[in-house]
Amino acid sequence: MTALPGGAPGSAAATPMRARAVVDLAAVRANVHALRERAPRAELMAVVKSDGYGHGALPCARAARQAGATWLGTATPQEALALRAAGDTGRLLCWLWTPGGPWREAVEADVDVSVSGMWALREAAAAARATGRTARVQLKIDTGLGRNGCQPADWPELISAARAAEAEGTLAVTGIWSHFACADEPGHPSIPAQLAAYREALAAAERVGLAPEVRHIANSPATLTIPESHFDLVRPGISVYGLSPSPEIGLPAEFGLRPAMTLSADIALVKRVPSGHGVSYGHQYVTPGETTLALIPVGYADGIPRHASGTGPVLVGGKWRTVAGRVAMDQFAVDLGGDTVEVGDEAVLFGPGDRGEPTAEDWARAAGTISYEIVTRIGTRVPRVHLDDLP
Ligand SMILES: *Cc1c(COP(=O)(O)O)cnc(C)c1O
Repeated sequence: MTALPGGAPGSAAATPMRARAVVDLAAVRANVHALRERAPRAELMAVVKSDGYGHGALPCARAARQAGATWLGTATPQEALALRAAGDTGRLLCWLWTPGGPWREAVEADVDVSVSGMWALREAAAAARATGRTARVQLKIDTGLGRNGCQPADWPELISAARAAEAEGTLAVTGIWSHFACADEPGHPSIPAQLAAYREALAAAERVGLAPEVRHIANSPATLTIPESHFDLVRPGISVYGLSPSPEIGLPAEFGLRPAMTLSADIALVKRVPSGHGVSYGHQYVTPGETTLALIPVGYADGIPRHASGTGPVLVGGKWRTVAGRVAMDQFAVDLGGDTVEVGDEAVLFGPGDRGEPTAEDWARAAGTISYEIVTRIGTRVPRVHLDDLP
């Protein structure tokens, strides 16, 4: 059994909240199903790093498992161990290691650990010897991303050492893997170049006698648009949460995806102000005439980008409004023009978009960033409310 223990379904109405990020777990499950249809011959690893891209790692991991994700992926070992502590027993890979580990805890918790260099192989092997267990190791090759991963020049040494450790029973090499740099730019020449480098690294590993269970390189854009990259396993993150990896490759709905998070806040104040009234720090916005302002009680401490000052969209009273002046730490204002709303009415910052609200992609454009950053940076001060249609 790989599913996490169930949790009580959340309710937005239970306690009054200034703001909330409602996460639709049925959407997460449907997104995993849609991704599995895109990669029908591969297993699926749902990437739940950074608290599930801000959506809540545990409930999203549970939903992904329910929808058939046979693997979970995290960046740090601490994130992986938290999933184990919450009861997840399925296959789980974590890849962002620094000297000191916690290798031993990961090996004891049956977490697959990624190794990109000799220092990490040595530490993983030492942990395995100390625990008397065989460490499950996945070797990562840098096929051109220039970030984590073993350089091709150093690959022969790493695979030979891994094979030797496997022969003595210290390690089992369960995976050979890599990561794309430009999979979200269809036709980019680095895509075939990385695939070719990956195939070479695989062949070299097989020549020294390694027989990995899973070979994988596909992130969300590759899962959605590069079928020849699927190998044994696909490793989507952002698309599990229903966002498109890039507006250039398509909207979520074009891939059968639905954004899972809706961020809203209760209006804290509505007031009439005269013409020429400065709004928020620096008076970057000055009312062009007598008007009504509504105060939205979230700010950059809650992850609302200050770069969206004067540009961020919000659905208030059935219409899109724009952040008036600067986003402050805890609040910002919108100008309702001739309209009015009540204190306590809901302002929707973003959601799936089908109630007329903006999307995380709209906020990304307003702030000059990507939707990944918008959802992932929603602060811990904003409660996550998980809606679930399963027990
Ligand atoms: C974050 C991450 C992913 C998921 O990427 P998406 O673009 O969100 O699908 C996959 N693999 C690795 C190594 C990652 O760091």
